[in-house]
Amino acid sequence: MDTRQTPQPAQAQVALSPQEEAALLAQQARRRRARLRFTLAVFAGLAMMGWLAGQLLVPDMPTPVLSAKPAPSAPALATRWASLVPMQRSYESDSLVAGDSLAALLARAGIDGVEADAALDVLRTQFDPRKLKVGQKVRVFSEWPNNIATDNTAENDTKRFAGFDFIPEPRQRLIVRRTGHLDFDVVKQDRPLSERFFFTDTLISSSVYEAARGGGMSPNLVVELIRLFSFSIDFQRDMREGDQLEVLFTRRFDENNQLAEEGDIIFAALTNRGKRYAYWRLAHDDGTHSYYDDAGRSVQRLLMKTPVDGARLSSRFGMRRHPILGYTRLHRGLDFAAPRGTPIYAAGDGQIVALGRNGDFGKYIRIRHRNGYETAYAHMNGYARRLKKGARVKQGQVIGYVGSTGLATGPHLHYEVLRHKKPVNPRDLEVPAQRSLADAGLEKLRTAQSAIGSRINALATDDNRLLSLPRRSANAAR
Ligand SMILES: [Zn+2]
Repeated sequence: MDTRQTPQPAQAQVALSPQEEAALLAQQARRRRARLRFTLAVFAGLAMMGWLAGQLLVPDMPTPVLSAKPAPSAPALATRWASLVPMQRSYESDSLVAGDSLAALLARAGIDGVEADAALDVLRTQFDPRKLKVGQKVRVFSEWPNNIATDNTAENDTKRFAGFDFIPEPRQRLIVRRTGHLDFDVVKQDRPLSERFFFTDTLISSSVYEAARGGGMSPNLVVELIRLFSFSIDFQRDMREGDQLEVLFTRRFDENNQLAEEGDIIFAALTNRGKRYAYWRLAHDDGTHSYYDDAGRSVQRLLMKTPVDGARLSSRFGMRRHPILGYTRLHRGLDFAAPRGTPIYAAGDGQIVALGRNGDFGKYIRIRHRNGYETAYAHMNGYARRLKKGARVKQGQVIGYVGSTGLATGPHLHYEVLRHKKPVNPRDLEVPAQRSLADAGLEKLRTAQSAIGSRINALATDDNRLLSLPRRSANAAR
């Protein structure tokens, strides 16, 4: 190999003394520092030249004058602007349809996208427009100067978008209004509602539902009415033509006499096969309310009669031939046929003591209630979400859904009531009231009863007296 290919510097081969080595290192350090000083000086020089060039070549610019006086605020400008140009306004109403949005509605109304966005941005500071539901009415306003005679047509180019408003809940109106060029503000306005009382007194010819609807009650209120009586009356078994329904209920109206909100049932009585079931609404100090009978027993019983809505009783309690097994045995509960997925309610307040597959019962739940009662629910399609063994449930809470798991011919709920572990017929059961009023409570009930009684007397007209059965006594409402 040729050794010249790797020439070595001559001094590297010379061994240096420690003093010479130190001197050499110091010399190298001095050179590095000198190079750095030179580089910095060059940069500084260039920067200086640049600044001088800027000062000399760029013409004078007006320097901003700082002032302690604040700029006029947007509302102040708006007021000034509004006072200069008095405006006329008009509006068009539209409603949200399925898959719609407020932005789409504004676009439909012909509002410029930039203006609509500005208005919506302001709205979002107070309200999330995604919360609006299908059917929500919105009024879109336009305005134009007062001095311009307009025939109110869309082609009028002096017209401009003035904002919009809507009523997201009965007691509130939200107004987004224009305050200047692309400036909007949002105002929440309380709507005072006045409550009015209505009284209906009718004979039932087909169903309680139809009688109540005929009496002017909203569908939701009728559902409440039926729930109220469902503790004491079995609508599938007990109703008879000629039964009588009396209901005092409220509705709430806005300042324009428009119905704003359904109210409450204040009093309800159902005369079923000559027996009168009457309940009065009583507000409690904690803000809740219950309905009580004349003796001060709450209408809510410990257990509901039917823990599923819209079901048909398909098998009774007692001995029967089993539809699948073929032999006769005791049917320890009631079967309610209902479409798969129909919600099943907890019949009463209690604690879940069993939840899971249980042989022929399929998916199964058992709840322990007060006074030694238990209820069981079988053949469920599934359980309500996050429901576990040991959980506390409220009366009427959805615990699962109708299905046909286990040994079942079709979707139905098998429902059992046990008293001290022994199955009893839910239909023959006299379940105690959920609560009973004591002295002070009873006194409050009497006061409420007399107020309700005089209200009914004031409302009862000759018309509905004709329709009703002969009154049993002068204070029939009591
Ligand atoms: Zn059954």
